[in-house]
Amino acid sequence: MRPTISADVRRALAERIRYYQELGIYDFYRRDAVATGSETSGVLSPEIPIQPEQREDMSPRKATARAVPEENIFEVIASRPETGVNDPVRALKMIREDLGDCTRCRLAKQGRKQIVFGVGNPNADLMFIGEAPGANEDQQGEPFVGRAGQLLTNMIKAMGLERSQVYIANIIKCRPPNNRTPERDECETCSPFLMRQVATIKPKAIVALGAVAARTLLAINDSMSNLRGRWYEFKPTGVRSNDPSWEGAKLAVTYHPAFLLRDPRQKKEAWKDLQMVMKELGLKAPAKTPES
Ligand code: SF4
Repeated sequence: MRPTISADVRRALAERIRYYQELGIYDFYRRDAVATGSETSGVLSPEIPIQPEQREDMSPRKATARAVPEENIFEVIASRPETGVNDPVRALKMIREDLGDCTRCRLAKQGRKQIVFGVGNPNADLMFIGEAPGANEDQQGEPFVGRAGQLLTNMIKAMGLERSQVYIANIIKCRPPNNRTPERDECETCSPFLMRQVATIKPKAIVALGAVAARTLLAINDSMSNLRGRWYEFKPTGVRSNDPSWEGAKLAVTYHPAFLLRDPRQKKEAWKDLQMVMKELGLKAPAKTPES
């Protein structure tokens, strides 16, 4: 028997849904209340991964929120704007529009010049995800364009690809002041948009560049030496792709190019990581390792 949900709880849940939508989170799953025997246990959970067979999709919005009577309060749940849009170029544009002139976290008011959304091939098999824009990226509105960006471009070329063939983004889209490490809450606020980008692009493989990207994407707080050198199964948290046949990406971890500039001896190790990715994607290894 379906549990009864009181008007107060329904109202609270509707508020919560609207709050998450403000944050760019649209896909919700309702956990079975019977499991805990409490009416409030039918909690809406955008962040906790739940096995597909346990998921119950909430109804998409059929009318505007204000017009919906209280008894149909769950009908206010809107689809992500890009839901059902199979053209990734259009879908990415819609995600960018949904992000707008974002002020969802404190970085909006800490000197950013512009939002750095992401760049590259919307149909890419390979995505690189870094930490945050730096000064050059903030200036130009494109991720990885400074010295570290040049090194990343060289790494991509060494894999036998052009930069335009991959998609490059960061966990957060605004430059932190003095290039400080992003705070956890900033990553949590911004990353739902990245998750939607990943679900739209549907890459076969993702390379997380550096510890912040790796820890945020994998939700594992471990050292780089432990995180590198193996594959992880990755599904974007809290969002499903339009394409049910896409089962997620394989994710590998390597050093951030900025770290490699500071400690060039680690380039050899990074090259091993990239060779693992090349093997997975069937890319032809060039004759020699990159010089820079
Ligand atoms: S970092 Fe992300 S969440 Fe924060 S203001 Fe920029 S775009 Fe918005």
